[in-house]
Amino acid sequence: MSVPLPTIPADVAVTEPPATITDRLGRALHDLRVSVTDRCNFRCTYCMPREVFGPGYRFVPRADLLTFEEITRLARVFADLGARKIRLTGGEPLVRRDLPDLVRMLAGVPGIDDLAMTTNGSLLALHARALADAGLGRITVSLDSLDDAVFAQLNDVGMSVGRVVAGIEAAEAAGLGPIKIDAVVRRGVNEESIVPLALEGRRRGWIVRFIEYMDVGQTNGWRMEDVVPADEILDRIGRVLPFEPLSPAYPGEVATRFRYLDGDGELGIIASVTRPFCASCTRARLSAEGRLYLCLFGMRATDLRGPLRAGATDDDLRALVTGAWTRRTDRYSELRSDATVHLPRVEMSAIGG
Ligand code: SAM
Ligand code: SF4
Ligand code: SF4
Repeated sequence: MSVPLPTIPADVAVTEPPATITDRLGRALHDLRVSVTDRCNFRCTYCMPREVFGPGYRFVPRADLLTFEEITRLARVFADLGARKIRLTGGEPLVRRDLPDLVRMLAGVPGIDDLAMTTNGSLLALHARALADAGLGRITVSLDSLDDAVFAQLNDVGMSVGRVVAGIEAAEAAGLGPIKIDAVVRRGVNEESIVPLALEGRRRGWIVRFIEYMDVGQTNGWRMEDVVPADEILDRIGRVLPFEPLSPAYPGEVATRFRYLDGDGELGIIASVTRPFCASCTRARLSAEGRLYLCLFGMRATDLRGPLRAGATDDDLRALVTGAWTRRTDRYSELRSDATVHLPRVEMSAIGG
């Protein structure tokens, strides 16, 4: 296949990674999120509502999923172009068989200094030790409530809080702590879970981050009135546990961080609806079938699997990624309006948040 050669020579890229590529808004390519499957054992109502993701739903056929070797090869390409962080996600990453093997392969990619995973935690107790041994650095567990009835209503498969907490404890025991907990807050569903999650997080040393419910995908029936704004979440917590702001841990961090005033503990807010952070968005997203998305709300993607399987060289692949990233202008959350809400876009379960 014929793809124009990249501007970055391969020998320089391998031995001494070049300065990262930047997009049209001056944003560097820094993070790669890799969805390893679009399947999941949960049916969270805000992500994979079962009316849509039911028995007739067409998931990506197994032959179309990137293999671990293909993912690792692409990870090297992204690392050559400046990516320093990889996060494995899904769907539910732990439903992909032998995931620790992929972790081991990615841990060996030169230039990647942060290898993390986001999981619903339900299978974590089985795999935490193998993941840590394979070189996983950090883990984020999604947990929207500590109340079994509320949590079951959200995950829609009757999953218990206890099983996820057991997974978190296994991850801590395996050395994957401190654990981050991500909780999506949806109006009328789990506002009452905010303070208990903050309290339990502080007690256990989890960094709990509350996420505003987003209009990702086209299946969750998102409405602005279902969003609990960051200010309201913070106000609820502050009345029980006063806190003060912390500076970002690294440039481009999506969560705004706070420290409790009376001692240890940290919390975060990811306010993608009311306080968009597109200006510092350094994330590329690779779907399970090898499509490169440059925004969570993307409509277009660049196919990397086709060229990969057609014999593209690493130079070809670097050129494809460079071309896509340097043309990037996405800033959906800053432009969100009544008009954008109905635009077609990729499902969250395909690119993993
Ligand atoms: N299955 C894994 C999990 O749940 O952690 C990884 C994939 S999941 C798509 C990644 C994150 O996206 C989760 O923390 C989930 O809560 C979040 N998410 C999914 N749909 C969302 C929505 N509509 N608004 C905000 N966050 C959402
Ligand atoms: Fe599955 Fe994660 Fe989506 Fe829930 S948020 S349905 S656990 S992919
Ligand atoms: Fe990044 Fe798109 Fe989210 Fe803006 S809307 S922060 S560009 S993923």
